[in-house]
Amino acid sequence: MPPLTVPARVGLFGGTFDPPHVGHLVTALGVRHALELDIVVMMVANIPWQKVGDRAVTPADDRLAMVRAAVADVDGLVAGDHEIIAGGESYTADTLATMEREFPGAELFTVVGDDAAAGLTTWKRFDEVVARSTMVVVDRPGVRADLPVLPGGVQWRRVEVPHLEVSSTDLRARVSDGRPLDYLVPSSVLDVIRRRGLYRDVSPPETR
Ligand code: ATP
Ligand code: MG
Repeated sequence: MPPLTVPARVGLFGGTFDPPHVGHLVTALGVRHALELDIVVMMVANIPWQKVGDRAVTPADDRLAMVRAAVADVDGLVAGDHEIIAGGESYTADTLATMEREFPGAELFTVVGDDAAAGLTTWKRFDEVVARSTMVVVDRPGVRADLPVLPGGVQWRRVEVPHLEVSSTDLRARVSDGRPLDYLVPSSVLDVIRRRGLYRDVSPPETR
């Protein structure tokens, strides 16, 4: 059923989510609670242009299926397919413009871990991102990053969330050397990984 009211405070938490994990989910929920956001949209990057060339990124449709599975039973978290529908490379400045159209009058919050925050000035039209939204940062365990000064004298909004040293990179490595993913990703995500044959080295449950 569509929501009865238009959300007034909307978080945009973008990522490759290859795969989504508990670090993402605990962050999204923690920020939602701390800043009293109506929803946090976990926006699946179509082509994460800063990652292309480093490794094979899993098809967007599979990553979206995993994020949908991850948030299916969670109030206030939503899987975003806008960047996939838009196609091409994904820029947060454009996505915020889309969010403004989808949620007229809403206050927007762009949520990043501090590794992503440190790279903000490399984002396309980052000044537009800062102008269109409040910039929210959470600690990324294992990362020591200096936050860039924001244009216009705007301050970062830091939110404390439980520190979970989990990364998609580590999860992909776990798959390839046969270590378990259980509890690091929701079981619903593990089901999608198995059903779709993603990260092919994931062993079937009966042999793990
Ligand atoms: P990869 O290792 O492939 O880069 P990742 O785990 O960093 O994957 P991304 O999809 O790159 O996940 O990250 C999306 C967003 O989530 C970024 O803002 C990143 O800083 C944040 N993030 C990822 N993992 C965590 C975590 N464990 N705690 C807090 N924030 C996180
Ligand atoms: Mg990352």
